Amino acid sequence: MTLSNLTSRIPGFHRMTCEERLEVVAAFAGLDDAAHGQLAAPGNIDPHLADHMIENAVATLSIPIGVATNMRVDGRDVLVPMATEESSVVAAVCNSARQCYESGGFVTSLSGNLMIAQVQLTGISDPENARLRILERRDEIAAACNACDPMLVRLGGGFQDLEVRVIASRGGPMVVTHLIVDTRDAMGANTVNTMAETLAPSIENWTGGRVFLRILSNLADRRLARARAIWPVEAIGGAGVRDGMISAFHFAEADPYRAATHNKGIMNGVSAVVLATGNDTRAVEAGAHAYAARGGRYSTLTHWEITAEGDLAGSIELPMPVGLVGGATKIHPTAQACLKILRVATAAELARIIAAVGLAQNFGAMKALATTGIQKGHMALHANNVAIAAGAVGEEVGRLAAILVEKRQVRQDIAAAELARLRGG
Ligand code: NAD
Repeated sequence: MTLSNLTSRIPGFHRMTCEERLEVVAAFAGLDDAAHGQLAAPGNIDPHLADHMIENAVATLSIPIGVATNMRVDGRDVLVPMATEESSVVAAVCNSARQCYESGGFVTSLSGNLMIAQVQLTGISDPENARLRILERRDEIAAACNACDPMLVRLGGGFQDLEVRVIASRGGPMVVTHLIVDTRDAMGANTVNTMAETLAPSIENWTGGRVFLRILSNLADRRLARARAIWPVEAIGGAGVRDGMISAFHFAEADPYRAATHNKGIMNGVSAVVLATGNDTRAVEAGAHAYAARGGRYSTLTHWEITAEGDLAGSIELPMPVGLVGGATKIHPTAQACLKILRVATAAELARIIAAVGLAQNFGAMKALATTGIQKGHMALHANNVAIAAGAVGEEVGRLAAILVEKRQVRQDIAAAELARLRGG
């Protein structure tokens, strides 16, 4: 087959087994034995399970899970599994948590397990009138929502509140109904989407308008996880370090270019726990960044202050739509094992621990930036990756990485040359 007659039209691809699909892909791409074998190797998830989770599955991708130590959350010591491909992330949480362990660790809270579903109504000439017509049906709406998920109601969840907003848009006014639902230990996307779809025809009947979208909002600002901690000034290296960190925060708070990186660092920790527990990283990330921009200008998810005693006080608040049931959390065996490590009984507990990890991560990044710079710690770990990429195996990895750090040249070409020297001599 020549490159020009390769076709991506593969009838029946979705009906094949994982193994059959991989053969087709391997032939298409001309995969060598090494690449084919890599994709065929089972990870810690059965290919047949992968096939049920997504469409057209051909393989799985393994990501390391590190465990963060030193975390004390609401008076309980927890070990936190973190799935990440990025070096330094786990180490930063361990170090940051150690420096506030003696002062009590993290205190956390959650605003509630409330998710919001939106129903978009268009083609209305009297939107304010329509808004009230919908609000008048609150009891009917509550009953219709709860009838969608009686199990959720039995668990103490279900419809909680109704909001109807009139928004101006380029296409004219829209009447947007918010169904506010307690989804208990589920992230709740499917749950609230079903409710929104069920209600849509009634909303059209009551108003004479036309409904288009019926979907949850990822700006889950009724499900805010919060964490705070005090780092004693002597535990973090003195007032100079503290003041440098406060200045780093002021910079991020005032400048979206810096805030994006500040918050990315927070999400290094947050997303790693979200992924390890089989939750939806994109949902949490979308919510976090939208929340960071709620004031009309993108800013920080954390705040840093100096206490009356001169210590460093950090706090974080962000939407945390995570669950223990539903999605991949319940069916991925590794996610289930990670939840066992965390020893959490509710989605609320999980959300609170994740907020604490986000705060710890931010402390670590800000302290490194305000003192030695990020590269010192980063490079030591990055050097391991470069050494492996250069072909180092076993004990060679540590030895070669140490040489690269010592030379302050963590580069592929240097690694190759140094590895050859190591082996030669
Ligand atoms: P789900 O559809 O499996 O529903 C979870 C069910 O769990 C609910 O019906 C609820 O009744 C039940 N439940 C809640 N607490 C419980 C408890 N303590 N014990 C037993 N059952 C309980 O899952 P979901 O959480 O509704 O959906 C999550 C999935 O939806 C994720 O995989 C996400 O990726 C996906 N999703 C996300 C978006 C988005 O974020 N925009 C959109 C669509 C789908």
